[in-house]
Amino acid sequence: MHSYSRQEHEVEAVFDKEKRYIMQTYRRPRIVISEGKGARLKDLLGNEYIDCVGGIAVNAVGYCHPAVVEALKEQVDRLMHVSNLYYTEPQVELAEKLVQITGMDKVFFCNSGAESVEAALKLAAKTTGKSGFIAAEGGFHGRTIGALSVTSGHKFRSAFEQLLLKHVKFVRYNDAEAIRAAIDDDTAAVILEPVQGETGVIVPSEGYLTEVRDICTDKGVLLILDEIQTGFGRTGRWFCKDYEAVEPDIMTIAKALGAGFPIGAMLAKSGIEFGAGEHASTFGGNPLACSAALASIGVIESERLVERSEELGAYFMNRVHEDGLDSRPIVKDVRGKGLMIGIELREACADIVDKALNRGVLINCTSDRVIRLVPPLVITKDELSRVIAVLEEIISS
Ligand SMILES: *Cc1c(COP(=O)(O)O)cnc(C)c1O
Repeated sequence: MHSYSRQEHEVEAVFDKEKRYIMQTYRRPRIVISEGKGARLKDLLGNEYIDCVGGIAVNAVGYCHPAVVEALKEQVDRLMHVSNLYYTEPQVELAEKLVQITGMDKVFFCNSGAESVEAALKLAAKTTGKSGFIAAEGGFHGRTIGALSVTSGHKFRSAFEQLLLKHVKFVRYNDAEAIRAAIDDDTAAVILEPVQGETGVIVPSEGYLTEVRDICTDKGVLLILDEIQTGFGRTGRWFCKDYEAVEPDIMTIAKALGAGFPIGAMLAKSGIEFGAGEHASTFGGNPLACSAALASIGVIESERLVERSEELGAYFMNRVHEDGLDSRPIVKDVRGKGLMIGIELREACADIVDKALNRGVLINCTSDRVIRLVPPLVITKDELSRVIAVLEEIISS
């Protein structure tokens, strides 16, 4: 990495401007990130961190992967954007690739996770002619009005209840029969995450998704799987649905899809699709975004990052168990799949995040008490080992 170091007063100026000019929707630690390589980040004062946040499960192939950087540079020199009024090559190449790796049939491109959920809800409503959805307690699907309507958290919804879809029922996660009981004549679709991310890495029992699939088929209701966070090797399979070979009718992806370049996609099985003019996006599937995604998928394949995620996830769990971190009094549970890991504490974990940062490890706290680790899948075993050592040191009390 280079060094883009600044003086302390220059860093303070960044904090001041942020506070003055940006709506205060985020709470951030007082560091300014300036560059990254692999699973490492540097701040403007020159401090280095091992990153276990990964841009919130986005930077699967790590920071500045040469293959992604090259692909983007080449595409920037040729064509950044031309709109969907025209054909472009990267878009169709990426669509073919996504169909191959997901087992779905057709793609609609957009620019974020929430947008892909919006597209999924519209497509389900259009296909069935119905307006009801069933979602899970603790489920998170994004902040736009449709996506927020199927997101359950009070803290996300409370100021906006008056705007949200009315026909949404929330049922207990990991309880397939609750879904059967909630389905009524107006139910268009069930929407679920295969592992709940924002709520604290909640892993359902084996067989849950299969059961939900069967119920949806039985009742003639569509199944939407939200793999925005769990996709692209995060859980040790290309997609988490692959563990049980469950086939959703509609699937949403984003986060790691573009290796950090904003892009989302909604995929569906044949026969479930939008017609001309029924949905659109100016930027959706633009050549630059699609080139980044194609390069990133290439890296996941060539560096066997899906397998690596499974192996390193298992290594983490074993180490934590051998060292007894999971039996410390303040640790309630350690769980996960692949490199999507949650450490649930019996108390708030904000302090732990600061302590880890001071020791050169970036972690994220979700749902107040869960340390969520979603590092780049290229993280080395040594780096992960260092992370475990730091966690053990600061969770000792
Ligand atoms: C992050 C996330 C979203 C929302 O994605 P944005 O790109 O932030 O709109 C939706 N669903 C799940 C499961 C997510 O993790």
